[in-house]
Amino acid sequence: MTQISSTPTRVLVTGGAGYIGSHCCKALSRAGVVPVVYDNLSRGHADAVRWGPLVKGDMRDEAHLAQVLKDERIDAVIHFAAFAYVGESVQEPQMYYDNNVGGMIGLLGAMQQVGVKTLVFSSSCATYGVPECVPIDETMTQVPINPYGRSKLICEWMMEDAATAWGLNFVALRYFNAAGSDPEFELSERHDPETHLIPLALMAAQGTGAPLQVFGTDYPTPDGTCVRDYIHVSDLARAHVLALDALRGGAGPLKLNLGTGKGTSVQEILDAVERVTGHAVPHIDSPRRAGDPPELVANPSRAHEALGFEARWRQIDEIVGHAAPWFAEKPAEAPKVA
Ligand code: UDP
Repeated sequence: MTQISSTPTRVLVTGGAGYIGSHCCKALSRAGVVPVVYDNLSRGHADAVRWGPLVKGDMRDEAHLAQVLKDERIDAVIHFAAFAYVGESVQEPQMYYDNNVGGMIGLLGAMQQVGVKTLVFSSSCATYGVPECVPIDETMTQVPINPYGRSKLICEWMMEDAATAWGLNFVALRYFNAAGSDPEFELSERHDPETHLIPLALMAAQGTGAPLQVFGTDYPTPDGTCVRDYIHVSDLARAHVLALDALRGGAGPLKLNLGTGKGTSVQEILDAVERVTGHAVPHIDSPRRAGDPPELVANPSRAHEALGFEARWRQIDEIVGHAAPWFAEKPAEAPKVA
């Protein structure tokens, strides 16, 4: 990536030890930015913080955050730190509101106190709920159907209110399904517990995990399984660098979908995993998972117009191929990130 001269030099990356956050730190570093990671390591991994310092802390600790913003001479924030499992959010809603909304309260309080007014926020297509139609564009009504999506929508509202009240400038990036890993194999996807389709399908196929449960085969989709828009995590990472640069150039506030515009069903993911690994995915047809809309596919044109962003990794086999090696060994022994 070429260096972008107007990009801030020191950016606080909350949740930078996590999956998307760590890939973003690599992209920032490539663009000449020092990513200062703020993470409580409850779900992230210290060994994924490799492009700048790591400060351990909780998002709800406003005083600590304000101190870090000052001490580290931060001029913009990218906020990833959040719980992000739809299923878990249905089971543990208060935990989601406490962590995700409470975290945004802490962050905005600290930013206002210190006078840092530039924020890129990790939002979600889950804020749309069951869309009126697909592809989904940013003008569509947001009626989330699970606590995770609601917590992200509340954060978007909080940023709008902060923009009005004290001049926050922000980009809300509504991710569709983040997938794959660093094409240079420096970073992996690691969740504990792992609940995501592609890792679980890879483990099932490679004999390192249980047979995959296919959640729902009776959806109103072409093959009866859920359709999602899988976007490569390194493409997402690059979009954050472009969003920061756009804010620095005077754009914002902006709310942008990040997707490829192409839908892939659960069954098509199983087929891709079989092509990539050479093994069929042992699976069990199972009931629908609570909180899952049938089809979520982005209209990605606004991000293209506002940021010049377009996903580079468009083939599902490439996305699955970048993730596959990390799931070829038993979870206790892998992945090994130096
Ligand atoms: N899914 C599935 N079995 C699993 C995990 C996920 O069938 O073990 C389906 C899930 O119902 C959804 C899609 O795969 O339709 C993507 O789910 P994932 O958890 O990867 O991401 P999410 O859409 O929840 O962000």
